[in-house]
Amino acid sequence: MAINLKDKIKEQLSENVQKALLECSETAEKYGFKIYLIGGVVRDLFLEKEIFDIDVTVEGNAIEFCHKLADEKYCKIIQVQDKLKTAKTVFSSETEIDFASTRQEFYPKRGHLPVAVRIGCSLQEDVYRRDFTVNSLAISLNKKTFGDVVDYVGGIEDLANKTLRVLHDNSFNEDPSRIIRGLKFAARFGFHRDKHTKELQEKYQREQLHKDISWTRIKSEIKQAFSLNTGKIFDMFLANGVEKLFYAQKPDIKGLEIKTLIDRHPVDNPWLVYLGCILKDEEIIDAFCFTRAEKKIFTDRDILLSENLSMLNSNYAIYKFFEKKSPEAVLVYYLLSKRKEALIYIEKLSKIRVELKGSDIKELGITDGKKIGRMLDEILKKKLSGTIVNKKDEIAFVKAQTK
Ligand code: ATP
Repeated sequence: MAINLKDKIKEQLSENVQKALLECSETAEKYGFKIYLIGGVVRDLFLEKEIFDIDVTVEGNAIEFCHKLADEKYCKIIQVQDKLKTAKTVFSSETEIDFASTRQEFYPKRGHLPVAVRIGCSLQEDVYRRDFTVNSLAISLNKKTFGDVVDYVGGIEDLANKTLRVLHDNSFNEDPSRIIRGLKFAARFGFHRDKHTKELQEKYQREQLHKDISWTRIKSEIKQAFSLNTGKIFDMFLANGVEKLFYAQKPDIKGLEIKTLIDRHPVDNPWLVYLGCILKDEEIIDAFCFTRAEKKIFTDRDILLSENLSMLNSNYAIYKFFEKKSPEAVLVYYLLSKRKEALIYIEKLSKIRVELKGSDIKELGITDGKKIGRMLDEILKKKLSGTIVNKKDEIAFVKAQTK
């Protein structure tokens, strides 16, 4: 008899999500579609973990199904991808659900992005394109079978044993980003790879390293993994030699050291601090197609590493040296160089600001633009050396100069 997760759906999904799923169920019934919750959401229901994304697969054409939902006024379609026949929707309760058509995938070139074939195939055929058995489970949303788990690959048993198992021997050749996904799930859920999967991974890492693969997925998985900001996952990367997948280097740094620094000095992109400590290969940096701001972290890191710091003999000089560099790059530079000047900047100097604005100084009687600039710089110098402490001191200093 099929395992039924109706109760877990009730307990773990918000009322809004449940309402949306029932609307899907009604519509599927009315128009004769077969629909399933699929992938991460099913895994997380089993594991009783927080659920972020709701993915539904339609055995057939998901776009047609979403149009029916929209006709019934249950949701709005906000995005459609015609090639893959997928759609993003938002329900009246503001619940967002992604719908995909069942499909098979074909990899024309190892490690490159797949091409979808046989859109609308059976669910059983669809699950074989997935990464691990634990991510290949489905839950029926049709009325009569609502909550029934569909397991074609032994995912339930693997979930119970916390085992990550690929679906076929060619899995990592097809898509090496699955190696990083595996580490992410190991770090998040305490999963371990089954023996054969471990051997396949090691074989891939030994034999298949080449740069002619699509780097977008690798970058996206690294971003997700390092964004978890657990030092553990960084250590796992290095312990498994996974950094070699993207031609990165093994530094003499532990993940906990990076995490502690980030926790003390938060930055916008913690994942790039981890990556910045290991990725030097310029070809890969280019292949990752970073945004300008992301790329700057690597450029700034390299500029900092190439500079001679012996002339940094005052707080002002240290401040000016690091001031325009991206905060992530300064953290990376400190982790790699252990230069005390970087730590002084991170912990103390970067927090110092001149409180007066140019307009305040104008009001105090200095009207020449250049002079205002020099005055602001003088105040900064004095604040950095500690002779000016607060706004009151700043005003007093300006007044003294105008006498
Ligand atoms: P998370 O909680 O990290 O989002 P997830 O399993 O939901 O985990 P997604 O990236 O949202 O991860 O992917 C949804 C589903 O798509 C997965 O559960 C898996 O079935 C499939 N999938 C995602 N990436 C791959 C991949 N690289 N190879 C094969 N299947 C994949």
